[in-house]
Amino acid sequence: MTPLDDSKAAAIGVVGGGQLARMLAQAAAELGVPLHVQTPSASDPAAPLAAELVLADLSDAAATRRLAEDCAAISFENEWLDLEALAPLAAEGIRFIPSLEALQPLISKRSQRELQQRLQLPSPRWFPLDLALPLPQPVPAAAAAGPDAVTAASSDAPLPSGEAGGLGAVPIDPRAPRLPQGFSYPLMAKAARGGYDGKGTALLQGPEDLEELLERVDPATWIVEEFVAFEQELSVVACRDRHGRVLCYPVVQTHQHQQVCDWVLAPAAVPHAVQAYARNVASSLLTALDYVGVLSIEFFYGPAGLLINEIAPRTHNSGHYTIEAARTSQFAQQVRIVADLPIASPDMTVPGALMVNLLGFEQGNADYGPQRAALAQLPAAHVHWYDKTGSSLGRKLGHVTLLLKGASHEARATEAERRLAEVRTIWPLPAAQPDGLEDARRAPISA
Ligand code: ADP
Repeated sequence: MTPLDDSKAAAIGVVGGGQLARMLAQAAAELGVPLHVQTPSASDPAAPLAAELVLADLSDAAATRRLAEDCAAISFENEWLDLEALAPLAAEGIRFIPSLEALQPLISKRSQRELQQRLQLPSPRWFPLDLALPLPQPVPAAAAAGPDAVTAASSDAPLPSGEAGGLGAVPIDPRAPRLPQGFSYPLMAKAARGGYDGKGTALLQGPEDLEELLERVDPATWIVEEFVAFEQELSVVACRDRHGRVLCYPVVQTHQHQQVCDWVLAPAAVPHAVQAYARNVASSLLTALDYVGVLSIEFFYGPAGLLINEIAPRTHNSGHYTIEAARTSQFAQQVRIVADLPIASPDMTVPGALMVNLLGFEQGNADYGPQRAALAQLPAAHVHWYDKTGSSLGRKLGHVTLLLKGASHEARATEAERRLAEVRTIWPLPAAQPDGLEDARRAPISA
């Protein structure tokens, strides 16, 4: 490990070489901090911007040890981590930011939900998918005498237990999957680990969907949540430094298309109390975990108030607008924290911003040159292109941030609708893939 040296900024490392690491590298370059990157391919978005490159799989802990040789501290681009493999490195003195202990409850959707329950943070009701498994079948002799339908109360089979709730004493077919008491369709099933952009989620409209899911996945690795009738999705990006100081960016509205983030409006047009509550949740969470670094929390907001959807222990798509619209971008903030520089103001420098993701709308090797040039011509528009190899439908290839002038939420909502329409004439949404979700929750840009 290189000791911190006043004359030359110590290097920091990141495991991951996608667009988040790329924007981290851009922020590090502006701050004069060398950023070393571990990523499998030299054509990954962050690779050309890295001060040093360790070409290796992200799960290769020996490579992470090599990465750390010249770095004061290491952070991660995503939360799909093998903490067991990394623990010996931490024991050797390699400094991870956030720490492996703080990351532990955040690396799976199931442990996130358990954490939220422990900390009494607002979240949708949920249960582990294996709680829905059919009751174990009786031995043949008993089966011969047994009825087709029994009540849970009269069955000899052990009842499912656990914090998510038990069974109601209603007649059930022991061979059929069942829902814990208090749950009804529709439901949202999610892979506990490895899901992103809606990959690893399944809408369950009825018992057939549940049966189909149980046939195709390992139920021990999935959770099921109540389907939240939200009006808006919100997100807050927050950070905490090594000295326990917490700063939050404004709460923003996010909109998904086919479960992939489509646009983000900053700040969200929500009452001050909602802003304050979201910040309060973020600061409780960061402090309870002794978390150091940038983190984001996605929320559902509607009749049930504010409920946590997901926690991302890293910089986040909902914070990309901060590059042009805040005093300190989320990426600069993460570099500062990892390099042990003081955190800086998250305040916005403009009344508002609309960030639109540039999702692939063609398959193959399209480089979208004409569209990118046209977007760059729009007033107050800042185009970021991630230089990914290959386009596929819905793939995040870049984003554009449009700075807004409107002084009120209403004025900015109208302005954002107009600016989004301008972007759409140049950059269409990818063709709809029927998942039945989009129509159910097309959220307008709301004032
Ligand atoms: P990923 O980690 O793949 O992004 P999320 O858990 O964030 O998956 O879900 C993707 C999207 O699916 C969310 O942004 C939201 O629109 C929708 N969604 C997720 N969970 C629920 C839920 N419990 N109720 C209703 N919609 C949901």
